[in-house]
Amino acid sequence: MKKLYVQTYGCQMNQHDSDRAVQLMARMDYTLTDRVEEADLILLNTCSVRDKAEQKVYSALGRWRELKEKKKDLIIGVGGCVAQQEGENLLRRVPHLDLVFGTHNIHRLAHMVQEVQLLGKRPVEVAFYRDPSYMEDPEGRPEVQGVQAFVTIMQGCNKVCSFCIVPYVRGREISRPSEKIIREVQDLARGGVREVMLLGQNVNSYGKNSPGELTFSQLLDRINDIEGLERIRFTTSHPQDLSPELVEAYTKLEKLCEHLHLPVQSGSDTVLERMRRGYSRKEYTDRIHRLRDQCPDIALSTDIIVGFPAETDAEFEQTLEILRELEYDEIYAFAYSPRPQTVAVKIYPDDVPEEVKKERLGRVLNFQNEISLRKNKKKIGYIEEVLVEGPSKLRKGQIMGRARNNRIVNFTGPECLSRQMAQVRITAASANSLLGELVSSGEVSITLEPGGVA
Ligand code: SF4
Repeated sequence: MKKLYVQTYGCQMNQHDSDRAVQLMARMDYTLTDRVEEADLILLNTCSVRDKAEQKVYSALGRWRELKEKKKDLIIGVGGCVAQQEGENLLRRVPHLDLVFGTHNIHRLAHMVQEVQLLGKRPVEVAFYRDPSYMEDPEGRPEVQGVQAFVTIMQGCNKVCSFCIVPYVRGREISRPSEKIIREVQDLARGGVREVMLLGQNVNSYGKNSPGELTFSQLLDRINDIEGLERIRFTTSHPQDLSPELVEAYTKLEKLCEHLHLPVQSGSDTVLERMRRGYSRKEYTDRIHRLRDQCPDIALSTDIIVGFPAETDAEFEQTLEILRELEYDEIYAFAYSPRPQTVAVKIYPDDVPEEVKKERLGRVLNFQNEISLRKNKKKIGYIEEVLVEGPSKLRKGQIMGRARNNRIVNFTGPECLSRQMAQVRITAASANSLLGELVSSGEVSITLEPGGVA
């Protein structure tokens, strides 16, 4: 048996792509190792959304040069967004690299490894496909071990946000046929998966470019009917595509978890315009208010970029204002970094000084921490339904899972509760997670109002 070591940077889509690479290579007798020194094949799945993530790729490849010198038949491959962006350049820049596969080319990986082994080639495959069959695995998806599973429903993005590299490294939107997605989720549910996360760069525009295909809310409706499945989540969505039907789905589909990640990026209309986001602050907040009117318990998270070119103090203050107004449950905030090929890098100088970006980032994170802590503390005394994932990574001796509203809940309980639903009374809260005590689990159930006090 040969050993495979995989390092993944970036989003859930990348994690899912890495899982697929592991499965494909398992068919060529590669078993996974967490020790890079013993690997026969190293795969690095990369992210280029921010400059820092890209720099990490070159540092990792630099560290592995010595391994290659010691073990001549070691194969090193790079995939994902940096691979797509750089293509052949990566081979020129990193002489000990053997292969490069783009975001649409994972299905070609086994063939490429053979080209290295048998023909001594250094293959590069970065073609974009228009036919969605490249996302399918002809041999079917192997059994999933955990209680949750990622399911890709679409890839790519047709928006043109000025800061974003995604359309250039993931391509234009392509949706998988709904019958294939539904069959995959049915198989997963039969195999014991209880929660699926539907993945795509812009999931709520699912089906728009495939005549006759279901809409995203219709797809959710069909997945909601799948026996054995208990929870549905999805990421990521664009505010423009938050349709009334999708809002309604939150009120009528009992398996759809009460959580929405809806990136706003900035609270300033002028910055949103420079970012080419396609909505004003009012249009965004109106949508959120309509959603909360219909689904008051929904948890919301968002993405924020600070220090976008020419962002003034006043424009930045408007971002703090929108955080104050909408009181998100969680945010992911980043300092702007110019990305190659994007509109922003071509027309706007990166003129906000790094120390100003850093200071704004700190202020946003501290501001949100207080909101998250306050909102989490409101959960104390309530009972949450938790899908138990396994031992807690942070709290020794405890187990952990996620509530329907996406909050992490740690509590004391036996590990055999893994993969089961547990009712947990919340006893304490931090800004990032909740602490609780087990009330009941598995087949034992108690009736609760949503989020109600027991
Ligand atoms: S919608 Fe999202 S993925 Fe698409 S270009 Fe904008 S930021 Fe990038």
